[in-house]
Amino acid sequence: MEIYEMTAAETAVAIRAREVSASEAVRAGLERLHKYEGAVNACVTVLDERAAKRAAELDARLARGEDIGPLGGVPYIAKDNFCTRGVRTTCSSHILENWVPTYNATAINCMEEAGAVLMGKGNCDEFAMGSSTENSIIGPTKNPRDLNRVPGGSSGGSAASVAAGYVPLALGSDTGGSVRQPAAFCGIQGLKPSYGEVSRYGIVAYCSALDQVSPFARSIEDLAIAMEAIARPDPNDTTCDAYDRPVFTEALSMDNLKGKRIGVFAGFEAEQMDADLYKALTRAGNMCREAGAEVEPIDLPIAVKYGVATYYVTALADASSQLGCYDGVRYGTHIDGPTLADMYANTRTESFGEEVRRRIILGTCLLTEGFYQNYYGPALKVRTRMSEEFAELFGKYDAYLLPTVPSMPYTLGAKETDPNRMYLGDVFTVPISLGGLPGISMCLGFTDGGMPLSVQIAGPRYGDAKILGIANVLERMIGRPKPCEPRKLGEAA
Ligand code: GLN
Repeated sequence: MEIYEMTAAETAVAIRAREVSASEAVRAGLERLHKYEGAVNACVTVLDERAAKRAAELDARLARGEDIGPLGGVPYIAKDNFCTRGVRTTCSSHILENWVPTYNATAINCMEEAGAVLMGKGNCDEFAMGSSTENSIIGPTKNPRDLNRVPGGSSGGSAASVAAGYVPLALGSDTGGSVRQPAAFCGIQGLKPSYGEVSRYGIVAYCSALDQVSPFARSIEDLAIAMEAIARPDPNDTTCDAYDRPVFTEALSMDNLKGKRIGVFAGFEAEQMDADLYKALTRAGNMCREAGAEVEPIDLPIAVKYGVATYYVTALADASSQLGCYDGVRYGTHIDGPTLADMYANTRTESFGEEVRRRIILGTCLLTEGFYQNYYGPALKVRTRMSEEFAELFGKYDAYLLPTVPSMPYTLGAKETDPNRMYLGDVFTVPISLGGLPGISMCLGFTDGGMPLSVQIAGPRYGDAKILGIANVLERMIGRPKPCEPRKLGEAA
C-alpha cells in the first residue's frame, strides 16, 4: 500500500513501528498535493517547509525513544477559518487576506499535542457561508471524484484534500452542514460533534450558537481518533462542556447495532430526492437490520419542513453581529475614506464578497424592530419545538438515519446565481445543527457512474461515541472509501 492510501491510524502505527518516518509520510502527502493541486485547488496556503521541519523534529524525538502521540507524524489540513499562529488565516476573504493570527485555535493545539503535522489551510466559502466552496478569494475547489463538480461546502478544501489523498485527516467547521455535506459530495466520512463537545476557541465565528469543529477522514476509526485528540473541556470556550468525554475508540469495539432501535427517515417520497441517494438510505436501514437492529420508519415533520427557514433566520442574525468586528480598524484590510463612516463602508463593501454582504444585510434587517417580532422571535420558538420533536424521538430510538443531501454534487457554477436553491440543499443537515445533535455523514459506496452515495446518522446530544460505533458497524459491512485520482468523469484517470 502507498503511504497516501493509509488511514491516519495506519500511518501513525507505521511511524511508531519505524516502517515509515514522519518525514516520509509528510513528503508523500506533499507530493500528492503538488501533483493534483493545480486541478483541485483545495488549499489557500501550503506549508511545505514548516511541515517538513516539524516532521523532522518528530523523527528526532522518536529516535530518542520519546512518545510522539497517537497521531505522531500524521499530516492534516485545517480549514482556513482556524487560527494558526504565524500562519495566515484568510477565511477565504479579502478582508482577512493578510491576517496572521498570534495564537492557535484550541483544536489546532490539540492536534499538535497529539503529534499531527499541519500541512496546509483548506479552501472554504468565504467566512464558511455556503455549500459549494465556490465563493473564495482563490477561486472554487473542484470535487476530486469529478472535477466538473463542486466538492460541497463550506469546508470543501478540507474534504477534497482527504478524498484526493493529500492527507488522511482534516478539520473543518460545521454550522449547518459544512462538514457533513462536503463529506457526502466527496465520498468520505465526516462527523459534526454535539454542540459543546469540541472547543470553538480560535475558529473564526460565523454563527457561534451553531458552529462546531468537525473532522473528516476516510475511516470511522480515524474520526474517533481525531475526537480523542480534540474533544475536551476548554476554559477559553464556555460553551464547551466540562463533562468527562468517553474514550471514542472504545465505542468501536462493541457490537453496536444488536438490539438497538434505529429510526429511518421516511418523510420524503422517492421522487422528492435523488433516486440513488434514496436507495442508499433504504440500503443503510436494511444493513442495520441485518446487523441486529430493530428498524422503523420515522418522520421529522417540524425539523424537515421548517429547518431551512429557521436556520437561515437565526444564523444570519448571528452572522450579522459576529462580522461587526471587521471594521477596517482592528483586523485585516483597511480602505480609507474622507470620514469614519466612509472608511467603514469602503472597507466592508470592497472586502466582503457578495454572499457575505447579502447575509450581513439580511441578518441586520432581521434584528430590527418589526422583523424581530415577525421572524427572529418565531424562529427561536420553532427551534424549541424542533428540540422537543427530537427529544420525543430519542425516547424511542437510539439513533436515526436520514439522507445527508437530497441531490448529487452539481456542476460548478450551477447554483451560483440562485442562493435560495443552494440553501434548500441544506434540508437534512440544518435540523441536526439546530438540535445541537451529533451527525455523521458516511460514504455508502458509489453509483455506476462513480459518484459517491452517502447516509447521515444522527444521535442524541453527546451520543457522539454511540453514532461512531453504529457507523463503524456499517463501514465494516461495506468497506471504507479509498482516495481517488482526481479526474473529470468521462475521462480516463
Ligand atoms: N450551507 C450552510 C450555510 O451556508 C452551512 C454552512 C456551514 O455549516 N458553515 O450557512
